[in-house]
Amino acid sequence: MLEKTLVLIKPEAIKRALVGKIISRFERAGLNLEEMKITKPSRKIMEKHYTDDANWIENVGNKTIDTYERYNLNLKQDLGTEDPLEIGKIIRKWLMEHLTSNPVVAIILSGNHAVEVARKMVGGTIPLFAELGSIRGDFSVDSPDYSTPEKRVIYNLVHASESAEEARREIALWFGDDFNIN
Ligand code: ADP
Repeated sequence: MLEKTLVLIKPEAIKRALVGKIISRFERAGLNLEEMKITKPSRKIMEKHYTDDANWIENVGNKTIDTYERYNLNLKQDLGTEDPLEIGKIIRKWLMEHLTSNPVVAIILSGNHAVEVARKMVGGTIPLFAELGSIRGDFSVDSPDYSTPEKRVIYNLVHASESAEEARREIALWFGDDFNIN
């Protein structure tokens, strides 16, 4: 099943000079590079990319709550709230700040089941728990209990579209005609 997917290489990966290594992993797996650009995203693009869907925001908040519970840490002390939606909103704000402050590399990859393959290769959201062999598991050890007190998002290096539908939406957003006027 031939598919296309969107990958973003985030600012922290560019800072750590990991762009080549990350792209070569996708190439090694047999995915094809279709398009690529380096760009400092506008706030509008980032807000469309990470929508303000309440379920998504709450899910992001819950990842922090779960990590804090796992290590018996005090979330209220670090963030002032234990409400998943409120936490998610704070993290979304940090996400916008981080991803509009420096360039990202946007890529379209194609190949058999490209969406699923890219997600598998990227690994789980939290690098500390991400599988070894995945990009996040191999190149980062970050986690919410480390990043939250520093008032920043987890540095997990890469984004990859979650579903074929999301890939279509994100490819249109990053490589469509509207990109430059957004
Ligand atoms: P993924 O990138 O694995 O699809 P999400 O869509 O849930 O994960 O989250 C988007 C991005 O927001 C993550 O890649 C990460 O940079 C940041 N993020 C998510 N959850 C947290 C969290 N609990 N603490 C800090 N940053 C987070």
